[in-house]
Amino acid sequence: MIEKDVDIKEITTFGLSCKVKELMRIKTEQDLMLLSDRYKAKEKIYILGGGSNSVFCEEEYNGMVAKIENKGMEKISEDEDNVIIEVSAGQVWKDFVVDCCEKGLSNIENLAAIPGVVGAAPVQNIGAYGQEAKDSIVACEVFDMKTKTFYWISNKDCHFDYRYSIFKYQEGNLVIWKVRFSLKKHFSVNTSYKALKDVIDKVEDKSKITPSFVAKKVTEIRDSKLPDPKILGNVGSFFKNPIISQDQYEQIKKYYPNIVSFPAKEGVKISAGWLIEQCGYKGKRVGKVGMSEKQALVMVNYGEATGKEITAFANAIIDSVKNMFNIQIQIEAHLVSNH
Ligand SMILES: Cc1cc2nc3c(=O)[nH]c(=O)nc-3n(C[C@H](O)[C@H](O)[C@H](O)COP(=O)(O)OP(=O)(O)OC[C@H]3O[C@@H](n4cnc5c(N)ncnc54)[C@H](O)[C@@H]3O)c2cc1C
Repeated sequence: MIEKDVDIKEITTFGLSCKVKELMRIKTEQDLMLLSDRYKAKEKIYILGGGSNSVFCEEEYNGMVAKIENKGMEKISEDEDNVIIEVSAGQVWKDFVVDCCEKGLSNIENLAAIPGVVGAAPVQNIGAYGQEAKDSIVACEVFDMKTKTFYWISNKDCHFDYRYSIFKYQEGNLVIWKVRFSLKKHFSVNTSYKALKDVIDKVEDKSKITPSFVAKKVTEIRDSKLPDPKILGNVGSFFKNPIISQDQYEQIKKYYPNIVSFPAKEGVKISAGWLIEQCGYKGKRVGKVGMSEKQALVMVNYGEATGKEITAFANAIIDSVKNMFNIQIQIEAHLVSNH
């Protein structure tokens, strides 16, 4: 069913009003075929999941929003150590995590409480508290709107990286339809992130530390640190943590010994939240937008923020970080516009 002139404020977490020309809810393979016809007719299509990483920047979107709503979850196989589960793209991510944890399965428990749907998890290889979606994804089944065919893309061919996969900046023809995960039957807690380690270390009875317990603790930490989108519209981290060379890191550390950093595959990952805070933007508000008082990396919508306000504010932050540290930070969220 196609709805016309729909305000998508309620189905995105940033909470901006935007009237989209058409909204199509994609539940079946037949819906995908119809969508492909529209794609082939060169209509502008934006694929939407839970809308927690998408910011519609204009009052109107002159195209179609295809909201992926297929449901289902199935065990494919199992051996001594792992269970392979196939999940439809429209399943809610956090429910999937809870469900697996309750069955004693692990490898996604640190990704508890991330908003959005399963189909979006591979797009930017969601990550939190030392785990990433790529650690458990076996393959993604995609529907190619250009060719009207379904095929599987293996983990390796997704080219996952930090907040990146081949889907992140794709042409727009690939719809992720199902994702296969390999989950572990034998649990060993991942405490590579200090905030979680501090909590886990305090637990006296170590037998309590199950996947569900960890997911619950992660959820509590997240609730204390992040603004709730139901109260203050946001898309989580607005910027990515930049990765800089070891040399540049050493130079900056001379002047800022408290710089917050994490190990990266190549170079050093710097906390974008820390950089933004040093530039004076934590809790700063300009018009209807601002950076959260709780977490400097999260841009919040204080009301009817406009796309212009958002982009001007984001650019001011990018320039400020560049001027102060000579580091270029990049926007993590998807800014959707008519151009
Ligand atoms: C409070 C809060 C906390 C957050 N914390 C984290 C965090 O800890 N770690 C993290 O990585 N992210 C985090 N995020 C960001 C966001 O939740 C994730 O990126 C999530 O995976 C987005 O899911 P979604 O379904 O809402 O995506 P949407 O915003 O609907 O879509 C995001 C992108 O994926 C594409 N897409 C969606 N579904 C499909 C599909 N089926 N096929 C092809 N493309 C598709 C869209 O076109 C868009 O480009 C947070 C967001 C919020 C609001």
